[in-house]
Amino acid sequence: MKIVAAKKILKFNDRLAAENRAAFDAAGAFCVNVVGSPGSGKTTLLEALFAAGKGRLRPAVIEGDIAGAVDAQRMENIDVPVVQINTEGACHLDAAMVASAVGELDLGATGFLMIENVGNLVCTAGFDLGEHLRLIVLSTSEGDDKVVKYPAIFQGSHALVITKSDLCPYLNFDPQRLIDDFHRLVPQAPAFQVAALRGDGVQDLAEWLLEKQTGRQGAALPEKK
Ligand code: MG
Ligand code: ZN
Repeated sequence: MKIVAAKKILKFNDRLAAENRAAFDAAGAFCVNVVGSPGSGKTTLLEALFAAGKGRLRPAVIEGDIAGAVDAQRMENIDVPVVQINTEGACHLDAAMVASAVGELDLGATGFLMIENVGNLVCTAGFDLGEHLRLIVLSTSEGDDKVVKYPAIFQGSHALVITKSDLCPYLNFDPQRLIDDFHRLVPQAPAFQVAALRGDGVQDLAEWLLEKQTGRQGAALPEKK
């Protein structure tokens, strides 16, 4: 019988992630790992973000889903280069999957490589993909207690994006509670409140990402742990 410790698998993943990051750096592509539950609005956020940063972001997308290419089709519809990864059951992306998907993209022509992870608040937290920055997306309908319940995914993120903020009046959701809980874990990280279908708040997020990209090119962004 062979037993492979989970720790070893994660070490292997970290090595591949570092190689991914080096490749992104060499090509000048800034990589963002977008994590959040199914239905939190990750794809809609990307669509709104690309509209807000039109002509400045030069985006490409890797879509992670268990099956199907629904989100990749949405990216094609707005002329964004995209690769769909079907994990066939796996509930997160890992660095090896990203490495093989990247080969299908022109990294040199990419300003922002956005990776939409499989919808999941749990084990996506444990896998570095080689990104420079991780965005945690949480919609108002998911409840304001999620930082307390799923701390790891928030702890490892560089910014919080609260989506569907226009639904707040109809929900028992206190954005400040969520933001306060988030800041207890990651004090310096910004929190954005957006209503992506209407475009509210998306410009601020686009400008912040562009700032971080510039900082990275000056090697100012701290390495992820
Ligand atoms: Mg999606
Ligand atoms: Zn998983």
